[in-house]
Amino acid sequence: MRLVLAAMVVLGVGCRGRETTRTAEPLNTAAWKAPENMLSGGVCHACNLGVYGGHRCGHTVPCRMCAREQGANHLHQVTYRCDACQYTQGVSHVCNDSKHCDVCRGDKRNIPVHHECDRCHRMLSPQQIVGVTFYCGACNLETSSNHICAKTRFCYRCEREAGADHIHEATRLCGSCQTEVAIDHVHNGTFFCKECRRDAGPDHKHGETIWCYRCGGETPWPHAHDNW
Ligand SMILES: [Zn+2]
Ligand SMILES: [Zn+2]
Ligand SMILES: [Zn+2]
Ligand SMILES: [Zn+2]
Ligand SMILES: [Zn+2]
Ligand SMILES: [Zn+2]
Ligand SMILES: [Zn+2]
Ligand SMILES: [Zn+2]
Repeated sequence: MRLVLAAMVVLGVGCRGRETTRTAEPLNTAAWKAPENMLSGGVCHACNLGVYGGHRCGHTVPCRMCAREQGANHLHQVTYRCDACQYTQGVSHVCNDSKHCDVCRGDKRNIPVHHECDRCHRMLSPQQIVGVTFYCGACNLETSSNHICAKTRFCYRCEREAGADHIHEATRLCGSCQTEVAIDHVHNGTFFCKECRRDAGPDHKHGETIWCYRCGGETPWPHAHDNW
């Protein structure tokens, strides 16, 4: 009896955090099966829908594929596999209603055919569908891993969380510095220089100095070491 009680207390704590904590569980790869009886939020009478936990009327709808509530512009990654070419292709797919979506709906027996193989142009069926974005209730946005409330939003072009100074294809979010940085970033050492489009140290002068990892600081440009 004492054991059961302890388990309930633990569960209770887990549930209380649910509203504010963003779902950070690994991507749901078993997404093909999302039976109605898995719904944990019961029926929303305003929406007249079976919903999942964390349902927020007017802002979220259930994604049957991911078995969780989703906001607007929820992103799925769809994998198509051509057996003839032994070639796998990933396609991004924004989905606002997986139940009626041509790509996402249906069970394994009746998967609609949707994507042409890049190589042989055979028509392929989705092999796997994975949810990429998660609803953040605080921001009222679909977000992905490394999301920081009010500071980052999902960039649909780069398909990752992006901070305020994000530049497509050039910067990525550093989770620990909480800034947009270049790929060669050093924590608490370099910042992204918009002019030079690379990370630079504190004494950086555009076009005159360059960050060197071996020296651990800005050095006159051009700069080289004899023994790479
Ligand atoms: Zn509702
Ligand atoms: Zn989904
Ligand atoms: Zn879809
Ligand atoms: Zn093919
Ligand atoms: Zn947020
Ligand atoms: Zn971007
Ligand atoms: Zn950093
Ligand atoms: Zn610069």
